[in-house]
Amino acid sequence: MNDILPPESARWEWLEAIVREQMARFAYRNVRTPILEHTQLFVRGIGEVTDIVEKEMYSFEDRSDKHGQAEHLTMRPENTAGVVRAVVEHNLLYDGGKRLYYMGPMFRREKPQRGRYRQFHQIGAEALGFAGPDVDAELILLARALWKAIGLTDVRLELNSLGQPAERAAHREQLIAYLERHADKLDEDARRRLHSNPLRILDTKNPAMQELVEGAPRLLDFLGAESLAHFEGLQAILKANDVDYTINPRLVRGLDYYNLSVFEFVTDRLGSQGTVCAGGRYDDLIIQIGGKAAPAVGWALGIERVLALLDEQGAEVPVAPPHAYAVVPDASAMPVALRTLTQLRERGVRVQMHAATADGLGSFKSQFKKADASGAGFALVFGGDELARGEVTLKSLRDGKGEQRALALADPDALATHLQSSAPND
Ligand code: ATP
Ligand code: MG
Repeated sequence: MNDILPPESARWEWLEAIVREQMARFAYRNVRTPILEHTQLFVRGIGEVTDIVEKEMYSFEDRSDKHGQAEHLTMRPENTAGVVRAVVEHNLLYDGGKRLYYMGPMFRREKPQRGRYRQFHQIGAEALGFAGPDVDAELILLARALWKAIGLTDVRLELNSLGQPAERAAHREQLIAYLERHADKLDEDARRRLHSNPLRILDTKNPAMQELVEGAPRLLDFLGAESLAHFEGLQAILKANDVDYTINPRLVRGLDYYNLSVFEFVTDRLGSQGTVCAGGRYDDLIIQIGGKAAPAVGWALGIERVLALLDEQGAEVPVAPPHAYAVVPDASAMPVALRTLTQLRERGVRVQMHAATADGLGSFKSQFKKADASGAGFALVFGGDELARGEVTLKSLRDGKGEQRALALADPDALATHLQSSAPND
């Protein structure tokens, strides 16, 4: 579990702001659900025989209430189940489909490594109440718009269809028979899942099993006409929108609730943590959670992985240093200085004030050093002489370094305009 500190945190805020803007453009609205949910929600929603529910959840028994009942709670390992719970609880679909998004921390007890943490952060988009492949396509276009807005280029889209439960059952029989014929090549995980969740074996990350998995019967070959039409409908929209993708028949996703379309945006640049964003259709989840049947589809991206990939690509994330750093040689100037800073901030200027330490304000020279280190475009000097003239001195710290001019304190508009010129691309 990581602390996210400056300056790294500025990259997070930058990403989050872009996400909010893109979500608004697609008319997805924000939901915020609790971190803690009943353990049963995830057991029912995600599925008992999944990595998450078998071994990754942070679960505990709450203290008993006054009836002596203790609740089993879990820190959310993902947020689709929580969103669906909220949708059911508040009857959000009473007047039609809803498009929702969330951002926040998720918790899984995994082996920590680059791109895999125990508290990590997801941004997710969910569209509930819509059945057709058009909204599956919309979600993929939303992800593409996000990649474009943040300058992420190194991802490719993989697509598959998991069909419907009956189609999976037919495939399952043949898959088990195939895997049983090669029982000697199965690892421990796979042997354990052979009868409980054989589809999941196709998702194995064990290199020794790749060949076996590649030769397995393909679920795609078991799809009926309706499932195929849905899948083809999605592909037709993607093609018409110039979305590149490949079909990966072994893409099954790590959670149990999916049907029909599943997809992942993957990269080769983050080792085995190569899935940046993943999602699919989950038409049966809402019933499993106790709601009235309603189709749904969504995706979630890992913020850490998106930022790591941007880093890997050498992408520059814009930061917003202060426009100005207030240099205050003498404490007697503080009242006027702070009044001016307030006027500037009200006009959108970012200003850092020089604050006294236990040793006082420090020398003029040491204040300038701090001004420089702050990244500010200007030092704003509140010296005694200029204040006596009703002025403040602006000293450029970047372009034309050292240039200085005095501006009237009585005209904060002009002062603000001048200071903001140091960061014309804001
Ligand atoms: P993986 O196969 O890498 O374990 P997953 O299938 O468990 O991923 P999902 O549950 O689909 O992942 O979560 C969606 C996204 O959240 C992933 O594609 C990834 O970007 C991110 N993610 C999942 N688990 C972690 C983690 N432990 N640390 C950081 N990011 C994660
Ligand atoms: Mg996982």
